[in-house]
Amino acid sequence: MNKVLIVEDEAGLVLTLSDRLESEGFSVDVARDGETGLELAMNSAYDLIVLDVMLPKRNGYDICRDIRASGNNVPVIMLTAKNETIDKVLGLKLGADDYLAKPFEMMELLARIEALIRRSAASGNGSGATGFSFDDIKIDFRNAEVSKGKRKVELSAMEFKLLQYLIENRGQVHSRDALLDAVWGYDATPTTRTVDVHIAWLRQKLENNPKRPQFIQTVHGFGYKFVT
Ligand code: CA
Repeated sequence: MNKVLIVEDEAGLVLTLSDRLESEGFSVDVARDGETGLELAMNSAYDLIVLDVMLPKRNGYDICRDIRASGNNVPVIMLTAKNETIDKVLGLKLGADDYLAKPFEMMELLARIEALIRRSAASGNGSGATGFSFDDIKIDFRNAEVSKGKRKVELSAMEFKLLQYLIENRGQVHSRDALLDAVWGYDATPTTRTVDVHIAWLRQKLENNPKRPQFIQTVHGFGYKFVT
């Protein structure tokens, strides 16, 4: 199921949009201000984001720029006020894929959402990004390459798989058992200790201070989560 984030503060429009998208089979998250919108966009994997420009707390331009700066290339459609052509130029410059001036026809928005999701799926993005970066670390998911600063980081296949899974599901807490199922698969028979060992290796290679991990965090009594 395609997952869409709507960042919009007009209650009526939010309701119409989310009802319509859900009836078309999308799973929908809503943020009513810019801060919440950015947080959700950074911490969950969406197939598309519908982003209003004028929002409380953070505006749509800032959000779009920050999403792109984090290496996330999720498709973004910006909603602009009517006839603000300057909005369009700025929005596209900051990395939006499309824009739509308010008021718009629902069918028009749906057509554009579907076109963008198709295009993004065709280019191999799926639900996630082809790359991700945090701190001084850059990850290329397609070529399974990682660098820290100017240095290339060598990861084993399982370390890379674990890291990619944590990043794609960042912000969520995962138990060791859940990580074993998701990353190692049911056919393998490693123990939960295997997860701890791989986490320790990842921290050793990626964290600035592996003893006090900033990104790959332990949630005591439960498991691990990735945060940026
Ligand atoms: Ca608004």
